Amino acid sequence: MKSDLKYYLFSSLLQKEGWLSSAYLGVDENGIIKYLNNSAPADGTAIEVVQGFALPGFQNAHSHAFQYAMAGLAENHPAGTADDFWTWREAMYQCALSVDPDQAQAIAAMLYAEMVRVGYTHVAEFHYLHHDKDGRPYSNLSEMGERMVAAAQTAGIKITLIPVFYQKGGFGVDPQQRQRRFISKTVDEYFKLLEASKSAVKNSDNASLGFSVHSLRAVDLEDVKTTYQHGPKELPFHLHVSEQKREVTDCLAFAGKRPMQWLFDNLPVGERFHLVHSTHLDDNELKLLAKSGANVVLCPSTEGNLGDGIFRMKEYVKLGGKWCIGTDSHIGLNPLEEFRMIDYRQRLVTNQRNTFEGDAASYMVNEEVTSGRRAMGIRQDHHFELGKPFDAIIFNSQSHLLAETSEKNRLATLLYTSDSSRVAGTIINGKWVVKNQHHKNGHSIKTAFTKAMKDLKTR
Ligand SMILES: [Zn+2]
Repeated sequence: MKSDLKYYLFSSLLQKEGWLSSAYLGVDENGIIKYLNNSAPADGTAIEVVQGFALPGFQNAHSHAFQYAMAGLAENHPAGTADDFWTWREAMYQCALSVDPDQAQAIAAMLYAEMVRVGYTHVAEFHYLHHDKDGRPYSNLSEMGERMVAAAQTAGIKITLIPVFYQKGGFGVDPQQRQRRFISKTVDEYFKLLEASKSAVKNSDNASLGFSVHSLRAVDLEDVKTTYQHGPKELPFHLHVSEQKREVTDCLAFAGKRPMQWLFDNLPVGERFHLVHSTHLDDNELKLLAKSGANVVLCPSTEGNLGDGIFRMKEYVKLGGKWCIGTDSHIGLNPLEEFRMIDYRQRLVTNQRNTFEGDAASYMVNEEVTSGRRAMGIRQDHHFELGKPFDAIIFNSQSHLLAETSEKNRLATLLYTSDSSRVAGTIINGKWVVKNQHHKNGHSIKTAFTKAMKDLKTR
């Protein structure tokens, strides 16, 4: 009897315990894994043989899609002037004020297609560009959120849309004119936006919702508490914390506490919390965070680009802390680079090579995939398991260095030496979305992106 499953044979497939060689994997028409074994299925059906090593798709747990439009445009620093996060933020506001819904969607689709090309199969869109250019809400409150979901659909990536509560211009400071597209004035206004966003995700199996306050500096502290306490109980909760030193000193001056300490003193920080950056922590905050079960979302290339500082990774991991990665402003998009930056910035400040104990590559991939899925609201024990969708990045097993490397050294070689030319493709819900660097909707995505950028005239 012929099977109605689609079968692949991979040279090898990565599970948390190690490689499964000659991995036969069968998916149903929805891309759900129904067969996974190192022996061939008995039903004699056709099998697509892939000369590749399959890794679980990476989870990009922090994205502001519109910022991709300005990637690389803020790298000219006139002599004698200061340039830091806060001056960059002014340039970012200009970008945020200029895009219309069609352009935002075209930019996001291009960005998401690029994410798929480099191996991300799911993105968390930390979405605060809510309103029209004059600051008035669109007649459909979640217009821009729906555009992000539509962009993800075109790009073939899964999306967790995280509508962001953004209320203030700083601790105790009213919002500025140029933040007008982001603002919900009250918790109720934000909850209306969140409610409207449900319709943006309800028709897609590949879209889900999270909720969020932007940061302690962007929402009244009482409202931060109310938002979490009265917010949905089943969704992941995301926020930026302690990205910049000034944010810490401002919080100390305003609330008498450092931001992370304030969070622990006022909210039940635990597994539902996904704390973006968490760069500047004192010893006590670091311990509290590591023991809490919360997840830190690190964005190494953006944090480096903005001069944020260095998260205390080595100590955090020793204490049992959880983390995953995001690409934030998208100045860098390659997950392998993000891993290397995480490790190397520790090596550079400690003058030691052992950031992580044991097999660093295996540890980093396991942690990013498991905690990254949690940031999307997904719990899964194994990288690949029966009954779960098949989402994977495939590396070319014939690539010269990988082909000559033992199984024991394969993942480290792959992670520490590869660029994207070694990626053979990306499979989402059991189907190739990108193969040999070609995205299945690449032409139309690029055409729309090109038009958006020409109309914006910012590049
Ligand atoms: Zn961010």
